Amino acid sequence: MRFDVVTIFPGYFESVLAHGIVRRAIKDGLVTVETLDLRAHAHDRHRTVDDRPFGGGEGMVLKPEPLAEALESLGIAKKQGNRQPATGNRTRVILLSAQGRAFTQAMARELAGLERVVLICGRYEGVDERINELYCDMELSIGDYVLSGGEAAAAVVVESVIRLIPGVLGNEASGEFESFGAPDAEIDADVEGVPRSQHGSGGLLDYPHYTRPAEFGGLRAPEILLNGDHAQIRRWRREQQLKKTLQNRPDLLQRAALSAEDQKILDSLRHQAVSGP
Ligand code: SAM
Repeated sequence: MRFDVVTIFPGYFESVLAHGIVRRAIKDGLVTVETLDLRAHAHDRHRTVDDRPFGGGEGMVLKPEPLAEALESLGIAKKQGNRQPATGNRTRVILLSAQGRAFTQAMARELAGLERVVLICGRYEGVDERINELYCDMELSIGDYVLSGGEAAAAVVVESVIRLIPGVLGNEASGEFESFGAPDAEIDADVEGVPRSQHGSGGLLDYPHYTRPAEFGGLRAPEILLNGDHAQIRRWRREQQLKKTLQNRPDLLQRAALSAEDQKILDSLRHQAVSGP
């Protein structure tokens, strides 16, 4: 897989790409990440890439010509009249924007199945909208807040997608066992209704993790994790996933893949919350 990131700050990505799983995936040849300096496509003496907004108002806007030239230099053609991607099914051109669709783990999984993703980092007040209309397949937002530029958002997309590329994580399916993981096809095949220890999270948040020492800061790690009964541990972890999700992201429960056993646990957690300790 290949990422191309169009930015006025290519240096931003040096450290982003130089650590951990991302660095290893690049080193192992599983992914390529290229940055393209937008200013290389500005042709005046000051290498100007921005201009004042039509209609007045605050700030500056990234001009369309350098961006169009940068994209065409990457082989990205203008979309045809029907607005279908000119780049084929295996490439997406994405504009990072606070006005975009919300970026989710499901979208990260979708992007990880592509051959190429081109990310355009906005700056100032944003990018001339004609670039979005003429070249982009989608606008993506990494959350409901405003960053000063698209670079941090591009780094989020690159990192979250790379770890889902087959072969990048040690265990092929590790990405499914984390928060927001895809449903496990075997959800109904569990013995005694107990999920497998590596159960696909089915869209829930992950369970809490503990390591040595068993006692820390006056708190003991949950006894159940220390006693080695795997069926109990699996059940406890599933309960904790449901508890965390109910507490912190109840919205995820609407779309989560829940078994009858999960529903029972949730009912009991809700009941406890209402009746108190
Ligand atoms: N005027 C824009 C608005 O109110 O929606 C904000 C522009 S922001 C200061 C500059 C650039 O940062 C944007 O063009 C975009 O590339 C990036 N950006 C800001 N917030 C973002 C977010 N939540 N997700 C993705 N990119 C974001």
